[in-house]
Amino acid sequence: MKEDIEEVLLPAEKIRDKVRELGQVISRDYAGKDLLAVGILKGAFIFLADLVREITIPLEIDFIAVSSYGTATETSGVVRILKDLDSPIEGRHVLLVEDIVDTGLTLKYLLEALKARNPLSLRTCALVDKPSRRVTEVQLDYVGFSIPDYFVVGYGLDFAQKYRHLPDICVLKPEVYQGTGDKNERG
Ligand code: 5GP
Repeated sequence: MKEDIEEVLLPAEKIRDKVRELGQVISRDYAGKDLLAVGILKGAFIFLADLVREITIPLEIDFIAVSSYGTATETSGVVRILKDLDSPIEGRHVLLVEDIVDTGLTLKYLLEALKARNPLSLRTCALVDKPSRRVTEVQLDYVGFSIPDYFVVGYGLDFAQKYRHLPDICVLKPEVYQGTGDKNERG
């Protein structure tokens, strides 16, 4: 496992501090409101679990799972909902929690799909942003870290379903994913 890692980009302590900061800002911004935090599976499961424990106002949690179709190197923006929310969001303050935003296509699709269900408000929170990869403008309300165009794993992020349990966010050695053609499958 260690031999697959090129470098630790965001160590666990740095992530913890940032998640705490995000939790404080979100708690302040939503004070007096009923919040519904929606985690995008699978990648956001660790981030969501840590984030909600830093939020001090009442909230509920739901999950949505999506898969995106694309070629080997690009997501197409065509997203399929694999697991929908358990409850309606009409009239709710919804915060969509994502692990990493790359092209922006997944989040854009989800925002449009959820907006159509008439939430009272709809915001997004992403732990990691790769702005240089963006192909579409997308609304990002809370962002943890902006990073260059590295393929990263750990803290929920996978490659071929592996490495999600790593406590740090790490850059994977290119030779690990080169040739497999599925670097950009979402997780
Ligand atoms: P987007 O639609 O913004 O291109 O794709 C977002 C999804 O692609 C993320 O939720 C994640 O599943 C996947 N993704 C994008 N960049 C990375 C990365 O650096 N590492 C991993 N593990 N997944 C990524």
